[in-house]
Amino acid sequence: MSTEPLRFDNRFIRDLPGDDETGPRVREVRGAAWSAVMPTPVAAPTLLAYSPELAVQLGLDQDLLESADFPRVFGGNALYEGMQPWAANYGGHQFGHWAGQLGDGRAISLGELLAPDGTRWELQLKGAGRTPYSRGADGRAVLRSSIREFLCSEAMHHLGVPTTRALSLVATGESVVRDMFYDGHPEAEPGAVVCRAAPSFLRFGSFELPASRGDVVLLRQLVDLCIARDFPELAQAGNERYAEWFAQVCERTAVLVAHWMRVGFVHGVMNTDNLSILGLTIDYGPYGWVDDYDPDWTPNTTDAQGRRYRFGTQPQVAYWNLTRLAQALSPLFDDAAPLHAGLARFQAVHAQREREDIAAKLGLAQCRDEDVELMAAWLQILHDGEMDMTLAFRGLMQFVPQAPDVAVLDEAFYSEARRNAVLPALHAWLQQYAARLRDDPLDGAERRQRMAAANPLYVLRNWLAQEAIEQAERGDLSGVRTLLEVLRRPYDMQPGRGHYAGKRPEWARDKAGCSMLSCSS
Ligand code: AMP
Ligand code: MG
Repeated sequence: MSTEPLRFDNRFIRDLPGDDETGPRVREVRGAAWSAVMPTPVAAPTLLAYSPELAVQLGLDQDLLESADFPRVFGGNALYEGMQPWAANYGGHQFGHWAGQLGDGRAISLGELLAPDGTRWELQLKGAGRTPYSRGADGRAVLRSSIREFLCSEAMHHLGVPTTRALSLVATGESVVRDMFYDGHPEAEPGAVVCRAAPSFLRFGSFELPASRGDVVLLRQLVDLCIARDFPELAQAGNERYAEWFAQVCERTAVLVAHWMRVGFVHGVMNTDNLSILGLTIDYGPYGWVDDYDPDWTPNTTDAQGRRYRFGTQPQVAYWNLTRLAQALSPLFDDAAPLHAGLARFQAVHAQREREDIAAKLGLAQCRDEDVELMAAWLQILHDGEMDMTLAFRGLMQFVPQAPDVAVLDEAFYSEARRNAVLPALHAWLQQYAARLRDDPLDGAERRQRMAAANPLYVLRNWLAQEAIEQAERGDLSGVRTLLEVLRRPYDMQPGRGHYAGKRPEWARDKAGCSMLSCSS
């Protein structure tokens, strides 16, 4: 099959050593960063949705998108010329413990596409069948989790949060059996394949695996490829280059996690195999969006006991993960000082970002020391009052310091009782906030503009995704498409789209898929 306009340059497999054996036989793979493996064809690949912006960026024209080959290629039944499928080898710390070799158990990369604008995009199918890294599992993905990954990748992009992207969502026409809550109730569910795209899918765990095996040669090759391909701007030479690279990874991770805290995103499974070396949000699994503000909340039922990956601890977990990466990289350094310096960069950048976000979210020209306390007090009220995080910040945008009125926050409450309980504290806080605003150089319009750019109105609330999923499972994709459309402009008020800015309805409070998600996907 020939598709003239698409150019592939598969540097990952060209520059790094591969596995001698090909095919999906499950095995330990040593001394190699990848294994050649073909996607397993599916019964009836059907295109359900695609991202128009990403298609344009990748240089995929309308004819290609509408061709019969498109769902076949992105469902795993055919290849465009230049594609050379592989699964990547990596390890990881899962829930604090070293887990050894993990690898792409159901993701298969097709190639690195060179886009017309000069950018490089690794295209990767998720749910494309078994690989050497599948262990006991089937290599497939269900429609519900594929919709969640597809929508959230694009939603994050439009929110301005670094993320892997999603090009397409293809139904396989096959069913996949999953025991959603690991409680002995397996069910057949529709299967799907998402094509994700990113300049690199390297993870912290990609470096940890060779390090754990004492394979410094492969470790160095991986770092060199990552720098040359993904960080070409690094000008330093020798060890300084490695030091600056690590520091930039730390910096990007700090920026990433600050964004998550700003928009109310909980990743859910921040294992080191799920942290991107580029500081992208990667591996959308049992993630969730904070409804009522609660730093202890996690959507992941698999983590319900320890709550290791709850909302409020994400910055600390990111830092811990970076310490694991630093440990893995230590054989490349003569002494630990540059690695400590990198970790310090995380702390510094994160602290700075936090202050910038406080200013932006509260609509202040700049964050003063006392504003840190002001924000902490506000968040405490959100928590005590069980207030919706997204709607509370958007409500605060409407606050007028000359005429303080608590009614601007009415929409954000889930219960009257909690509202009443928190009202005195809220009144007092609003007085303080009004005084602070009167002492700020921004005028009302400037302040609202600043707040609107930092506080999204439309996020992929868990119950919204669930509604679209249930519709899609009945064969109606309109919900997925509408959400994709609304989430393209998350900061702009969209008339007639009130439903998508609404707080969690009562039916969704304790429902599977909304407040409870497992890793089963
Ligand atoms: P996760 O925590 O979802 O990022 O996955 C951890 C590991 O399990 C990775 O190596 C995945 O590739 C693998 N994995 C998850 N689900 C499947 C599946 N259905 N088939 C094969 N491997 C899987
Ligand atoms: Mg993963």
